[in-house]
Amino acid sequence: AVRVRFAPSPTGFLHLGGLRTALYNYIFAKKHGGSFILRLEDTDQTRLVPGAAENIEDMLEWAGIPPDESPRRGGPAGPYLQSQRLALYAQATEALLKSGAAYPCFCSPQRLELLKREALRNRQTPRYDNRCRSLSEAQVAQKLAKDPKPAIRFHLEGEAPAFQDLVYGWNRHEVASVEGDPVILKSDGFPTYHLACVVDDHHMGISHVLRGSEWLVSTSKHLLLYQALGWQPPLFAHLPLLLNRDGSKLSKRQGDIFLEHFAAAGFLPDALLDIITSCGSGFAENQMGRTLPELITQFDLTRVTCHSALLDLEKLPEFNRLHLRRLVSDETQRRQLVGKLQALVEEAFGSQLQDRHVLDAAYVERIILLRQGHICRLQDLVSPAHSYLWTRPAVGRAQLGAVSEKVDVIAKRVLGLLEGPGVSLTQDMLNGELKKLSEGLEGTKHSNVMKLLRVALSGQLQGPPVAEMMLSLGPKEVRERIQKVLS
Ligand code: GLU
Repeated sequence: AVRVRFAPSPTGFLHLGGLRTALYNYIFAKKHGGSFILRLEDTDQTRLVPGAAENIEDMLEWAGIPPDESPRRGGPAGPYLQSQRLALYAQATEALLKSGAAYPCFCSPQRLELLKREALRNRQTPRYDNRCRSLSEAQVAQKLAKDPKPAIRFHLEGEAPAFQDLVYGWNRHEVASVEGDPVILKSDGFPTYHLACVVDDHHMGISHVLRGSEWLVSTSKHLLLYQALGWQPPLFAHLPLLLNRDGSKLSKRQGDIFLEHFAAAGFLPDALLDIITSCGSGFAENQMGRTLPELITQFDLTRVTCHSALLDLEKLPEFNRLHLRRLVSDETQRRQLVGKLQALVEEAFGSQLQDRHVLDAAYVERIILLRQGHICRLQDLVSPAHSYLWTRPAVGRAQLGAVSEKVDVIAKRVLGLLEGPGVSLTQDMLNGELKKLSEGLEGTKHSNVMKLLRVALSGQLQGPPVAEMMLSLGPKEVRERIQKVLS
């Protein structure tokens, strides 16, 4: 059975890069009827960020890709927090010590620091010199008496096995001759990443490891650990990095790459999932507008290439507009959008709403339907440019007079236009009538009439076509706003 995992360290909130790794895992699991697991790698207790663990799981749920097994949901392979699995790492370390694949290291932090400085001075990459490898049993016993909790190192030995990465192809990294023996268990009983990752992937029955390409070179080390422990390794697929459009690192220049930020700014999860998959590979065609079910059916791991994915966040509003329109066209989704916009209006204008009818579902829905093509986010509908939809503008006589001398004449004619029982207006009809109205006013340009009406209705010189404004507001409200204009 396919079992994949997303294994972030809770050292920060979930950002776009993490979301992309999680998403590919989720899609792959769903495509193959498998399970998507969230495991939190919290073994470096000094780097934990308060709230990060909750945020990661919250945001996966917000994005619509909830894990099947996780710290919060539990599951058959739990616990899903590494800090709660220390016994398993101790057990594996014990086995490695017994077979001679691991050894205790008594080197003091000072000695390690000296080694490091010396290497840097010689312009070499710091590496442990494997000194404690060669301690005799007697020496170990003697040192253990003084230092009963030494760190444990893995004896990197022999050629690293070659492996076929499902994205990068055949790979082998000569770790034994290049790197010093890595610590796998620290003196405080916590494992380091490499051991914890291998032990957990094994015990959690992970079939495929889909993770960022920065871990590609570590894989040889992991395979040596699998070998030493006598375990069958999973398959590996390393995913190319997600970078800014200019190729710079996502987290460095782009301040706002955290999911929380996008959620608060009113971006739709679907738009985010769409943009982070459309800039990369994994699909036959690069197109925008895919929904999660489509991502699942169309994804093909063999199509993932090793090129970095360049993300152009400036396109996000366009992606959002597309997905917003899709939601609007679905009645159930539209009802939810109405609820959301009602809350946004209440939040933005609450105390200024003299007229509560603007919160009526029918009114709010009409606004969404009329404006959907012109906005990127629902939030845009409560921007200052749209405030006339929710509150009455304060329009002074002087402001109107500056636009046209014929304020009263125009106002009266518009009122006449709106009279008659049950006028049901359409945008075309209104456009026609307004045109006629202007033609009936000698010496006044149509554009000026429209300008005047726009100011009267919204207090603004710029905005949607007057006919649309009138339709949005409805005849009763239009009448009241025009009436106010008359001196
Ligand atoms: N904890 C690692 C990270 O934060 C996980 C790497 C892996 O998936 O093996 O990226």
